[in-house]
Amino acid sequence: MAIGSLLIANRGEIAVRIIRAAQALGIRTVQAHSAADADSLAVKLADDAVLIGPPPAAKSYLDIGAIIAAAKEKDVDAIHPGYGFLAENAEFADAVVEAGMIFVGPDAEAIRLLGDKVAARDVARQAGVPTVPGSHGRVADLDEARALVEEIGFPVMIKAAAGGGGRGIRIAEDFAAFEKQFPQAASEARAAFGDGGLYIEKVIENARHIEVQILGDGDNVIHCYERECSLQRRRQKVWEEAPAFGLSPTVRAALTECAVALAKSVGYRGAGTVEYLYDADTQAFYFIEMNTRIQVEHPVTEMVTGIDLVAEMLRIAGGEKLSIAQDDVHVEGHAIECRINAEDPAQNFLPSPGQISGLSVPEGEGVRFDTMLYDGYFVPPFYDSLLGKMIVRGVDRADAIRRMEQALGALVIGGIKTTVPLHLAIAANPDVIAGAFHTKYLEGWLAGAPLSETENA
Ligand code: ADP
Ligand code: ADP
Ligand code: MG
Repeated sequence: MAIGSLLIANRGEIAVRIIRAAQALGIRTVQAHSAADADSLAVKLADDAVLIGPPPAAKSYLDIGAIIAAAKEKDVDAIHPGYGFLAENAEFADAVVEAGMIFVGPDAEAIRLLGDKVAARDVARQAGVPTVPGSHGRVADLDEARALVEEIGFPVMIKAAAGGGGRGIRIAEDFAAFEKQFPQAASEARAAFGDGGLYIEKVIENARHIEVQILGDGDNVIHCYERECSLQRRRQKVWEEAPAFGLSPTVRAALTECAVALAKSVGYRGAGTVEYLYDADTQAFYFIEMNTRIQVEHPVTEMVTGIDLVAEMLRIAGGEKLSIAQDDVHVEGHAIECRINAEDPAQNFLPSPGQISGLSVPEGEGVRFDTMLYDGYFVPPFYDSLLGKMIVRGVDRADAIRRMEQALGALVIGGIKTTVPLHLAIAANPDVIAGAFHTKYLEGWLAGAPLSETENA
C-alpha cells in the first residue's frame, strides 16, 4: 500500500526535511506539534497541522497516546518519527501498527533487537561483526562487573543499555572509580531512560567514529558507504563527512559487508546506521551500536551518492522494494556537514534561544542548508539546540573544506549566538585539514580555549 498521507511526529529541521521529501512524492503531510512550535517552519510548510500538547516533550513529542489520537483525527496512512524522541521506541512502533497505520521505520521486533544496545551487541556477534571487548549481556551487579573489568583491563566504559544522544556513558580509569560510578550510572540510567540496565566496554583509545548507512526492504539490504563522525563534543557529533578519509579498500569493504550482514540477519526494513569505532593504527574496527532510524548526518551520504534517503524510507514503508541495487551506489566527491546550534561557543556553549533577526543563507552548486529557521522565528528554549545543518560537497576533501569556509562565511543568522564560529575555526585547524583527529580530539583542542573572547581581554 503506497502512503497517501503522513503525520510527522517530530520537529525542527528534520520535520522540514521529511515534509519536503513527502510532498515531492505527492504525499499529503500533517505536522504534529507542541504549543511551543505552532509558528514553526514545519507547521507553515505542511499541508495540515495538529496540536499534540504543551511545550515539554514528555507531554507532546514523547506522548504516544496524544500522537496516535492526532494521527487518527487527521486520518493519515503513516507516521514518520524522525530522529530522537520516539524514533527508536518499539512500543510506539507497535502502537502505530495497532492503530492501523504504517510506522516509517523497521518493525518493532527489529527495534527491540537493535535499539537496545546490549541486545544489538549479541546480534552483531552472531552475524560475525567484531564488537568492542566487554560484557555479554547486561551486567547484573558489582561482583559480576569486578570479574569482567579485571579480565578486559582499564580504562572501561560503563554504558546504559537504553542510552543515546551521547548520554548514559561513564569512563572509569581504575577500580576505585568503577565501584563508585557503577551504582550511580544505574540510578541515572533509570531516571533518564526508564531502564537502569548497564553494560561494560573497553575504552578504545584514539579511535575514529565511522558508520555505515544501510537501506533494507525486508528481502534485500544494500549499503550507501560510510560517514566519518569523529569530531565530537560530549560524545555528540559536531562535524561529519562522507566518505571517511584514508580508508583502505579492504577496510571499507569489511565495514560495509559487516553492516549489511548485520542488517540482513534481522531482515531489516528501512534506513539504518551501523556505528563503529576504528583504530587507524591497527586498522581494526569494532561495532558500537545500530541506529534504527534516519540520522542527523544523513545528508552527507545523500550529497556524495545522489540517493534521497528519506524518499527511500517512505517508499519502503509503503511496501515497495529498494529502487536501487548495490552496484548502482557510487560515491562522487566529498561532503561535509556542520551542525549549527543555538549555543555560544565562546561561553562554553551556553544555550542561546531567542528571536532571529536577519537570515541570509548561501546558495549555489554543492551547497545545502537543512534548517528550521526563517527570519523573525523565535527559537524556543525547550528542545535540542540544533538550528540547521550546513552541508557542502566538493570534488575532494580539501575542496569541500574550502567550500564550507565560504558557505559559513556567507551564512548570517542574526539575533542569537550560534556555533558558526566554532565551525569556521575547525575548518581552519591544520590537524582537521590533515585528517589527524579522533573522537577525543575536539574536546582536547577546545580545552585550550581557542574560541574564548575574554581570555586575553
Ligand atoms: P545521530 O546519531 O543521528 O547523529 P546524535 O547521536 O547526535 O544523532 O543524537 C541522537 C539523537 O539524540 C538525536 O535524535 C538528537 O535529537 C538526540 N540528542 C542529541 N543531543 C541530545 C541531548 N543533548 N540531549 C538529548 N537528546 C539529544
Ligand atoms: P550513543 O548511543 O550515545 O550514540 P555510542 O555507543 O554510539 O552512544 O557512543 C557515542 C560515542 O562515545 C562514540 O562515537 C565514541 O566517541 C564514544 N565511545 C563509545 N564507546 C566507546 C568505547 N568503547 N571506546 C571509546 N569511545 C567510545
Ligand atoms: Mg551512537
